Amino acid sequence: MTNLFPSPQWPTVPVKGETAAYPVHRIFCVGRNYAAHAAEMGVEVDREAPFYFTKSALMAQATDTTIPYPPGTENFHYEMELVIAIGAPVFKADTERAAKAIYGYACGLDMTRRDLQLAARAKQRPWDLGKDVEQSAVFAPITKAGEFAAPGPQRIHLEVNGETRQEARLDDLIWKVEEIVSHLSHYYHLQPGDLIMTGTPAGVGAVVAGDVITGGIDGLDPIKLTIGAAE
Ligand code: MN
Repeated sequence: MTNLFPSPQWPTVPVKGETAAYPVHRIFCVGRNYAAHAAEMGVEVDREAPFYFTKSALMAQATDTTIPYPPGTENFHYEMELVIAIGAPVFKADTERAAKAIYGYACGLDMTRRDLQLAARAKQRPWDLGKDVEQSAVFAPITKAGEFAAPGPQRIHLEVNGETRQEARLDDLIWKVEEIVSHLSHYYHLQPGDLIMTGTPAGVGAVVAGDVITGGIDGLDPIKLTIGAAE
């Protein structure tokens, strides 16, 4: 049967050293995974289990581009994150099997309409308008896990117009990468194409049209995003 209109093209993320790209299937995001960020948001870290929100795969955006300032917000925030790329089916896995399913890592930006997220949070409503924002999941190229040391003392940082705003180390992550993959695998049949944004360090803040965001994690390709005028 033909389609009534063209089916959307799944976004892809380049992989360092590969000519083939990594097609995005789903985007999971971990909330409150750095204690200092939870504190700046005025909330406690839940140390019993991580929690998640999602972004549509179609919200994925390549690095080194300009996106328009999104509609409906006056407080558009950056969040610099380590991204896990799943490379094998993983379901109800322990941390050891979960670690083996990690294909690679990338720098990511979880761009957020903070005013809408906080308004939803206050009313105990879902976060979608704040988080599932068009073009809001920005990914730098993936580095394969074998070419990256286990997350540990690497510096994770973000600058706006060259000025440092976020700075931490990957071992500040409350839930470690294999713990996140293991936990999430008890709720989803994780598979290649699933990306997990692992949370952001302290120092989140607003950007305006004309701002240039840069970020990096030691050992991974850096990320860059320019904020354009509102449409
Ligand atoms: Mn985030």
